[in-house]
Amino acid sequence: MRAYLHLPDALKSGKIKGPWGRGFDALVDQGERDMEKLIIIGSGPAGLTAGIYAGRAQLSPLLVTGSALGGQMALTSEIENYPGFPQGISGQELTQLMQQQAERFGTKVQMDEVTAVELSTHPFKVTTYGKGYEAKALIIATGTSPRKLGVPGEAEFTGRGVSYCATCDGFFYRDRQVVVVGGGDAAIEDAIFLTKFANRVYVVHRRNRLRAEKVFQERAFRNEKIDFVWDSVVREILGDGSVTGVRLRNVKTEEESVLETDGVFIYVGSIPNTGFLEGQLELDDRGYIVTDRRCHTSVPGVFAAGDVQERVLKQISTAVGSGAMAAMEAQKFIAELEDRAYPERPG
Ligand code: NAP
Repeated sequence: MRAYLHLPDALKSGKIKGPWGRGFDALVDQGERDMEKLIIIGSGPAGLTAGIYAGRAQLSPLLVTGSALGGQMALTSEIENYPGFPQGISGQELTQLMQQQAERFGTKVQMDEVTAVELSTHPFKVTTYGKGYEAKALIIATGTSPRKLGVPGEAEFTGRGVSYCATCDGFFYRDRQVVVVGGGDAAIEDAIFLTKFANRVYVVHRRNRLRAEKVFQERAFRNEKIDFVWDSVVREILGDGSVTGVRLRNVKTEEESVLETDGVFIYVGSIPNTGFLEGQLELDDRGYIVTDRRCHTSVPGVFAAGDVQERVLKQISTAVGSGAMAAMEAQKFIAELEDRAYPERPG
């Protein structure tokens, strides 16, 4: 079991010092940086839920959105498995509703991106493109980004036929032919979505069985516009100014072939957005933040929630749960730091 240093006590007892060597007394606004009680980094379902809970706890948290409000959730065309929406809801709409709910309780949603954090001092320092902040507690909910396939042509044709988001780019493939790479939920869900536009969707998968949920599999198998290319990997993306095809290799027969296509949508998993945290807190060997069951990271006062945590199930519903947990733990941490009872007593 990991032993966590109890920062409020350690600061108060003088065991460790604040950044200016004055221990607990150093927890004051330093002027150049805005002081916040709590900064939430990331605006996916985990970050926005943390905003709702921390807002209701009257912490007036600052939520720094990252490059796109809503994260991967906002890029999902239709969400069918989030409770409370029996007819489904678009990712954009669910994002807006969560944002409104967080703002209703006083969360300040700031469109900006965190470029660096300093977690070895307290208050923690957070730097964005626009500003510098200090915070007593942090919740990191930066989620993941699509993993690259790493084949020739991928970088060259990104934005010119290579895409990682059908919701964003599907519209451009009306009556055209596209390739989807991958066999997980994201690949199959978006392959189905792409049939609204494209007249033919080829799903290229490296095995002969899909990883995606059964409900997606059945829908895809029934869809007449979808063809499967099994046991195959993309070796190269071909093009001339824009994508014209993919070179495939059958992993069983070693045979190579060229499949003509106007677009390639890549869904081969995701990587955590933790580059700015390297050397600052404990990450696992794949770069995910290591937490305990209560969202505590290896740095006291820093919590992590959602897909950026090492976790088995990556769903909006699970991200929401951890966002709530992280906010409650942050609230407790700040209350202890300020010598207040938790939960606060009236008067
Ligand atoms: P994923 O579940 O990790 O699936 C990645 C797919 O890409 C797998 O089929 C994998 O093949 C294949 N792959 C990986 N590396 C490859 C390579 N180098 N070349 C060719 N193929 C490769 O990733 P995801 O689909 O992006 O989903 C990520 C998480 O989000 C999952 O937990 C998923 O359940 C969740 N998600 C949920 C929903 C939903 O519930 N509606 C929607 C989207 C995503 P193998 O199968 O052979 O490993």
